[in-house]
Amino acid sequence: MKLLLATRSSHKAGEATRILADEGQEGAPAVLTLDDAGIPWSEAEDGLEPHETFEENAASKARYFGRLSGQPTVADDSGLEVDALGGRPGVRTKRFAPSGRYPALTRDEANNQYLLDSLDGLPPGRRGARYVCVACLFDPASGDTVHFRGEAPGRILTLRRGSGGFGYDPIFLDEETGLSYAELSAADKNERSHRGKAFRALAAFLRG
Ligand code: IMP
Repeated sequence: MKLLLATRSSHKAGEATRILADEGQEGAPAVLTLDDAGIPWSEAEDGLEPHETFEENAASKARYFGRLSGQPTVADDSGLEVDALGGRPGVRTKRFAPSGRYPALTRDEANNQYLLDSLDGLPPGRRGARYVCVACLFDPASGDTVHFRGEAPGRILTLRRGSGGFGYDPIFLDEETGLSYAELSAADKNERSHRGKAFRALAAFLRG
């Protein structure tokens, strides 16, 4: 069986591929990325995440790429829910910083800075947050979808720490280890992360 991993993020693809391979052994699916499958970027992809839940957005991406490729497809929708912001940015995590707010920064840097600014002055006890990942598996033959949700608790730091990971990892503290996600090794991040939990549940489903 070949499973299409429908993401344009090389970071997400790298993590998900490794998580599935580590679960793997017999019956592990061969994973194809969009590049492997020769699916070029198209403007339609910008409109695939209009919904208010991770589940709906993940299903929207999985269905789109599953129909395009004819392959069983998994898509990941993920983000950060910050307690002091009433669960925001949630499904808007990727586009959290207002455009033009930090013109000299990359999107990830601007998002991190905007979150730090939004929580400015809050003490550690009020900086709780969680990463959420929903992986949606779509089978184009049956039209069925199945969802797998993983959550990882943490706290938003006041300064960036570490150089691993991607996105919000330098400011997301894993309280058990006392390390930011950007300070964890790739294997330790996968063991604890929202994506690790969601994709291990997917692997167990595929095995079963
Ligand atoms: P998506 O493409 O809509 O799923 O966007 C996910 C957003 O959440 C992006 O801004 C990512 O940088 C962020 N994000 C998701 N997972 C992680 C992670 O494991 N580490 C850091 N940021 C993440």
